Amino acid sequence: MPKLSPLNVIPLLPGTNCGQCGEQTCMSFAVKLLDHLIELKECKPLFSEKKYAKKLKKLKELVTPPIISIKIGTGEKQISIGGEEVLYRHELTYYSPTAIFVDVNDEDLDDLIQRTEFVKNYDWIRLGDRINLQGIAVRSLSGNPDTFAQAVKKVLSITDLPIILCTLDPKIMEAGLKVTKNKNPLMYTATKENWKEMAKLALEYDVPITVYSTDLDELKSLCVSLENAGINKIVLDPGTIPGEGHIGETYSRHIILKKSAIEKGDKSIGYPTIGIPAAVWMDQDIKNLSLGERVTLSYEEAKLGTILISHATNLLIFHTAENWFMLAIGVVRQNVYADPRINPAVEPGLYEINNPTPESPLFLTTNYTMTYFVVKGDLEESRIPSWLLVIDTEGIGVECAVAGGDLNVDAIKEHIEKYKVNEKVKHHGIIIPGLAARLQGELEDSANKVVIVGPRDCGGIPFLLEKRWNLEKIEELWQEMQS
Ligand code: SF4
Repeated sequence: MPKLSPLNVIPLLPGTNCGQCGEQTCMSFAVKLLDHLIELKECKPLFSEKKYAKKLKKLKELVTPPIISIKIGTGEKQISIGGEEVLYRHELTYYSPTAIFVDVNDEDLDDLIQRTEFVKNYDWIRLGDRINLQGIAVRSLSGNPDTFAQAVKKVLSITDLPIILCTLDPKIMEAGLKVTKNKNPLMYTATKENWKEMAKLALEYDVPITVYSTDLDELKSLCVSLENAGINKIVLDPGTIPGEGHIGETYSRHIILKKSAIEKGDKSIGYPTIGIPAAVWMDQDIKNLSLGERVTLSYEEAKLGTILISHATNLLIFHTAENWFMLAIGVVRQNVYADPRINPAVEPGLYEINNPTPESPLFLTTNYTMTYFVVKGDLEESRIPSWLLVIDTEGIGVECAVAGGDLNVDAIKEHIEKYKVNEKVKHHGIIIPGLAARLQGELEDSANKVVIVGPRDCGGIPFLLEKRWNLEKIEELWQEMQS
């Protein structure tokens, strides 16, 4: 599918530049629409005036992505998966990060409670982004509808995160659907054996459904059967087979599905995909595994998970519920879904860390996200009240910004003035990064500051303050500089 440009969209908009969408022109609306910064429904005249009905229909077809978006769950925790328009992230960006679910089963209630609590409470901040988990996949091991329903109820009593109901038995599925009424769970899964009964349930409860087959022709034919039955909320599972020789096959099937939908425009499989790295634990006597065996399986699971995230599998179910494991998976996801068109930058300015006073030390860094968050984190953890002057280097780190001239004395002086540093900070010292040491002399002359060269690694800041931050000395030095 060729990439859309605003010129494809403009002829289908009313073209009146009425401003009801909050944009000054239809062109600006078109640009934002394609960048996912505004929704089509914001163009009110398109929906309210009959004369635009044909344009609206065409526009909807035009902007519906080749992989449609599916919602799971309800309320604040609801997630959308899919919606990709491009095969490669650098062509646009991916908008709905891979949703991460953790499995629980209906045979071990204590384990279910513990794992559900883990998922609910998992929350890390990394580089200003939240790394958290999106839901629980409840598996029926008991084979008993009532036991399954009780397990699902228990999960619902702990969290309002989205749920996947996992069973091949339509009777057990129905028991789960009854207790998740109006919660919009994802059904897992329809197969060539059970799809008719499962389709009935998906229609009756109006929920999304997964369809499974490792044979892609069969998967496609199952999708067509579900579509003919009136179902359009489908998630594709082409199988996740762990073990030597199978990972490549798993990956290929996921890629073939995306390529067929995005590049060849095959609408019959234009749905999000699900992968199950937890499959590495299948057929294992989990309770009797040694620590070494568990670590090996978790490692295999992480490997499979990161491979699938790397090409934007839309939802993954894991078994390992450990901090270290989820942090690794979350960081991979964060990196894959970072917008490649946007420099990783934070707003420049004068930041207050730990409630500084006018006498608190003043630090300087660039607005490269990695640098900013690491310096800020180290200052916060050290509990040192301080000021952090963040210079706009267009998201470039200290060493490259000094080399390229983006971090220079004029820029620092401009930021000192712009952010009124001298009104808030009542001393004449400034600590610059060790990697910007070459600016020291010129900055002292030009900005009239006593410049202290900090460590090359901000982990050394507490040591620097203890040994070299002395306000009296700084002011003495400053007086000397004036004479
Ligand atoms: S509301 Fe529609 S017609 Fe009005 S400016 Fe926005 S896009 Fe154009």
